[in-house]
Amino acid sequence: METFNHFINGAAVAPASGEYIDTDNPYTGEVWGRIARGTAADVDAAAAAAAAAFPGWKATTPTARGKLLVKLAELIERDAEHLGEMEVRDNGKLIAEMGAQAKLTAEWYRYYGGLADKLEGSVIPLDRPGILNYTKHEPLGVVGLITAWNSPLLLLAWKLAAALAAGNTAVIKPSEFTSTSTLAFAELFGEAGFPPGIVNVVTGLGHECGQAMVDHPDIVKIAFTGSDTTGQRIYEGAAKNLKKVTLELGGKSPNIVFDDAEFEAAVMGVISGIFAATGQTCIAGSRALVHRSIHDAFVERLVEVAGSATIGDPMSYDTHVGPVTTEPQFQKVLDYIKIAQEGGATCVLGGDIYDGPGASGTRFVQPTVFTNVTNDMRIAQEEVFGPVLSVIPFDTEAEAITIANDINFGLAAGVWTQNLGRAMRASDALNAGTVWVNTYRAVGFNSPFGGWKRSGLGRESGIEGMMEYVQTKSVWMAQESSVANPFIMR
Ligand code: NAD
Repeated sequence: METFNHFINGAAVAPASGEYIDTDNPYTGEVWGRIARGTAADVDAAAAAAAAAFPGWKATTPTARGKLLVKLAELIERDAEHLGEMEVRDNGKLIAEMGAQAKLTAEWYRYYGGLADKLEGSVIPLDRPGILNYTKHEPLGVVGLITAWNSPLLLLAWKLAAALAAGNTAVIKPSEFTSTSTLAFAELFGEAGFPPGIVNVVTGLGHECGQAMVDHPDIVKIAFTGSDTTGQRIYEGAAKNLKKVTLELGGKSPNIVFDDAEFEAAVMGVISGIFAATGQTCIAGSRALVHRSIHDAFVERLVEVAGSATIGDPMSYDTHVGPVTTEPQFQKVLDYIKIAQEGGATCVLGGDIYDGPGASGTRFVQPTVFTNVTNDMRIAQEEVFGPVLSVIPFDTEAEAITIANDINFGLAAGVWTQNLGRAMRASDALNAGTVWVNTYRAVGFNSPFGGWKRSGLGRESGIEGMMEYVQTKSVWMAQESSVANPFIMR
């Protein structure tokens, strides 16, 4: 049984409470480690370390900060295999995905390392003689970064790389279900040459440790990835101290298949949108909107391919669908299957626990497809975060767009068509932060990502992602000191 402590000021620190939380392997169900159960006292210590490190980090030139981030990227690539394996042991997602993701996170540190000394201010051409007015982008201070369990290191990179490049220091809280890869990753900062205190990790429960970060007066911003309900709670809590927030929340994304789509590519695209990562992805294309003329043939092929997926050990490169990460999430997915059935949807694939070959008897759900779904059903409106797809037929382009947008979320959307005009019209009309045409589930370090409506606030990645971690200062310098009339505005 391994024990993991907080990482504060460059060192492992035991929790003030002395308490720990068990962590298990979703595939075997085995409890293999325990993580520190952080409380307000631990958050205090981490925030104090980050606050002490802030002036030095802010004063480090952006070029020097960038070089350290690039060095960190090299270390991530060196350790990617190990970090990816830790993530699989924590969240049960496929090694093929988590290994690649761990390596990919390096790109965010490299990109923001390069961007660090390119964030320029402006000289404003004032309509006043003798005054130089310029703007500069300054860091915010200590930022709090809270992540979800599905992709701990990738979701962290989207926040942390931009925050550090901009000159902020950080207190991080990973999900209580998947904390160990973040703790192992934090060790790399010292090796890369970062002074201690710039990056601190506290672990623990959301309502205790996470909430203490939201309430902490010295943490000036919270960047959060998680569910919309927790995001709303964080937004409300942050409002008390007028804290800035970036919120990356859930989704119920439509994947629209028009009758002129390349059929096989669209089938594979819809499958990749919902069964990859066992559906545990914020951008899951959990509503397939399929033109009625191809609906039956499309469902038949979908069921054939999804039904042949290899289910089992996430550490095997031959596995297509792994376990559900957490016990509460497993129960939630099963509940939603029942909700769909009670709502009148027809289950044409799966619909139950999987205990066939490859399953270890823990948290496996069969890839599940429902037809006869209408967009007003709960299964079409609420995020399941599991391998459950709803197929909804449509007759016209306008109807497809109406159904796609008739939802409280707006994270992503997919469009499958060979008609360029339709692709452009649909991309314009869809209310989502990301639209993919003839592809799905693609993200990049230099392309902004974020949600509309209950899918979130703010953007991560790209230049916009860095702007979330700076505040603008406007400096006015007069050539000659003169205060002509002290009683009026100059
Ligand atoms: P969650 O909201 O339950 O938890 C997310 C994090 O918030 C965890 O670290 C948790 O400990 C913490 N937390 C919980 N309550 C808190 C509180 N009161 N104050 C501060 N922190 C608190 O989400 P989850 O179940 O871990 O993740 C799944 C959700 O994340 C899904 O809704 C999914 O769509 C979303 N998600 C979004 C994105 C995105 O980029 N938009 C990416 C991945 C996942």
